[in-house]
Amino acid sequence: MDLENIKKKFRITGDYHTHTIYSRVGPYFHGKGTVLENVAAAFAKGLKEVAITDHGPSDFYGLSLKNVPQIRKEIAAAAKRFPRIRIMLGVEADIVDTPNGLDVSEADFKLFDFVNAGYHYVPNCHMISNWLAFRFPCPDSVKERLRKQNTDRIVRALTGNNIRILTHPGDKAYIDTHTVARTCEETDTLVEINARHRHPNCEELKIYAGYDVKFIISSDAHRPEKVGRYVKSMQLALSAGIDPDRIVNIEEISG
Ligand SMILES: [Zn+2]
Ligand SMILES: [Zn+2]
Repeated sequence: MDLENIKKKFRITGDYHTHTIYSRVGPYFHGKGTVLENVAAAFAKGLKEVAITDHGPSDFYGLSLKNVPQIRKEIAAAAKRFPRIRIMLGVEADIVDTPNGLDVSEADFKLFDFVNAGYHYVPNCHMISNWLAFRFPCPDSVKERLRKQNTDRIVRALTGNNIRILTHPGDKAYIDTHTVARTCEETDTLVEINARHRHPNCEELKIYAGYDVKFIISSDAHRPEKVGRYVKSMQLALSAGIDPDRIVNIEEISG
């Protein structure tokens, strides 16, 4: 289906993966918009719900947990300006080698309305190996070793925590898609179709579709104008043969 027809036939109801200036390192802002700007953009696009989900604290651009009360204040202020949209606070936790497999401890889950999790290049040897192996030619044996480690870490993170969305699985690091899909099925974790990254791609989505999982489309917006972006992701989902009813934040426009 072409992009124009997708726009006429389907709409996105909520975006549960957006970044703000709280994803930053020193004076460099990885996310470009404020909480209010992301909310205003979501409201202008007719979304019913939007979430602010900055990077987990171990990321290069990670959120500082001490900023959470300030973000909550900004969400409350935005809610006064835009009372018809529901605003939530989440986090995109990093999947790392900690006891619970994340850079957000079990105790810190209560700071957020929900927690998403994904792979990123945090500064450690494991992720530097992933970065090199993913971008440059590398022996199959190394690739397979990393694939096993990455998959095990995702399984640990999803089975040991209540994760809402597995963000961009297969991006930035090799994984065993079948094992990850089965784990999403067993843990009721939503599989993200990400508007910003190349994975999961069509072939990978076909594998996920073979398991009893639900999908969610996320903009992964790092600037307000990208909030609510869904049309190309919807096209990808359809080309992978995914029934639109399985995408939890997409509704058909009647009439
Ligand atoms: Zn991410
Ligand atoms: Zn993100």
